[in-house]
Amino acid sequence: AQAEIGLIGLGVMGSNLALNIAEKGNKIAVFNRTVEATRKFYAEAGDLQGQIVPCETIEEFVAAIRPPRPIIIMIKAGDPVDQQMELLKPYLEKNDIMIDAGNANFRDTMRRFDNLKDSGLTFIGMGVSGGEEGARHGPSIMVGGTEDSWKRVEKVLTSIAAKYNDDPCVAWLGENGAGHFVKTIHNGIEYADMQMIAEIYGILRDGLKMSATEISEVFGTWNKGRLNSYLIEITEKVLKAADPITGGPIVDLILDKAGQKGTGKWSAIEAQNMGVPATGIEAAVAARSISSMKEEREAAEKVLGLPDGELKIADKAAFLKDLESALLASKIGAYAQGFAVMSAASKEFGWNLPMPTIARIWRAGCIIRSQFLDEITTAFTKDPDVANLIVTPAFATMVKETDGALRRVVSAAVLAGLPVPALASALGYFDSYRRGRGTANVIQAQRDFFGAHGFDRVDGKAAHHGPWGSGLNA
Ligand code: NDP
Repeated sequence: AQAEIGLIGLGVMGSNLALNIAEKGNKIAVFNRTVEATRKFYAEAGDLQGQIVPCETIEEFVAAIRPPRPIIIMIKAGDPVDQQMELLKPYLEKNDIMIDAGNANFRDTMRRFDNLKDSGLTFIGMGVSGGEEGARHGPSIMVGGTEDSWKRVEKVLTSIAAKYNDDPCVAWLGENGAGHFVKTIHNGIEYADMQMIAEIYGILRDGLKMSATEISEVFGTWNKGRLNSYLIEITEKVLKAADPITGGPIVDLILDKAGQKGTGKWSAIEAQNMGVPATGIEAAVAARSISSMKEEREAAEKVLGLPDGELKIADKAAFLKDLESALLASKIGAYAQGFAVMSAASKEFGWNLPMPTIARIWRAGCIIRSQFLDEITTAFTKDPDVANLIVTPAFATMVKETDGALRRVVSAAVLAGLPVPALASALGYFDSYRRGRGTANVIQAQRDFFGAHGFDRVDGKAAHHGPWGSGLNA
């Protein structure tokens, strides 16, 4: 029998995804640019060899797949994908489906989708989260493309996706770039979540002078409560791990420099493009950029010194409780912003993104998987058109229960000179979003003063310029 699906690119993600597909009883044809990788992959496939058709030429590969052929391309994102698609195209037939499963920018996905429109071929942009482990045993899969092309791949993808209870973490989210956009925002939220955890770690390490092992225990306890999630779980493990050479905590030996590649930055840019505040994601991307300026920071510490504040805590146990609640509060802020960005994009690009479904397929398989996402699923299921997650009844209650703790933690950290840009961004977001009367009246007056921009009045009266006299247009 012919293979049900094909896959190009036997790197880390592609080979694990291919084994997952084969293991779930789907016959799969595989191809890799460098032939040795294909041979090695097949040689190591063990019991699964019977489900795998290793191919050394594109021609052989395409012939091995049942039409209409779904072909997953899991290679380095960017130009390589365009090159691979060009090489593949001449061998394909009407209704065959090229599926880009890498971390593509959704704007590239939309372009690729459009370019194929008149060719009879179709294109799916598919976000895959969960890293190597997820790809092998069950990722979260976000699909964008035509509904017909989704129907052709639904069965295979459902078989390989992570399951939350028995619910598969895969869904068709809309046309063209919808899947890759949602994956991008998933990663943006992941950036924010990780940064907030790192800031709390910083308060424990530099404020409370706790050791990595002690901090690990704190995260371990939190993982049993409302913060229960994959990221908290791995943070506990990371802090506990010993360096094989020195025997001390490995985390203390890791250089404090983090890169920021594509998706975090894209999330912030797209949020800005649409005028949606995503301050948690922005703070996280900026924090990684500052982290990478290691030499500059060391030089600045010599010039400016560290602030001489100290973390003043009356009751350590109560403060630890506050830190837990503060992390939950700031996390709510970041997720609310991420969903608000998706909601705006849904209108802007005509996707009709299903918010409850997105939260549902993030509950397992992906890096931000957590119990918390189950609560988001419930909130959006009850109220799919709500303006913002934080005004749903369940989350409004959670914000009111936890934002006091966030305020105390941010204040204490600021007074002690400990950087908490992402935690503070969540607080700023709550305090601005919940305040009916803000301060942009002054901005409007200033703009009118120097640029005659005009303003609207609260009383609805029609005077559109202020009485600035000779200052107007100065
Ligand atoms: P790897 O570096 O392990 O593998 C890269 C693959 O791309 C190889 O098969 C390589 O083939 C192929 N390749 C590179 N350039 C070309 C080209 N010009 N034409 C054809 N094939 C090419 O990458 P990963 O598996 O880690 O990542 C693959 C994709 O998955 C990326 O888009 C990545 O962002 C995304 N992703 C990765 C995750 C992860 O945790 N690693 C998680 C989620 C998504 P060759 O052997 O011939 O060099």
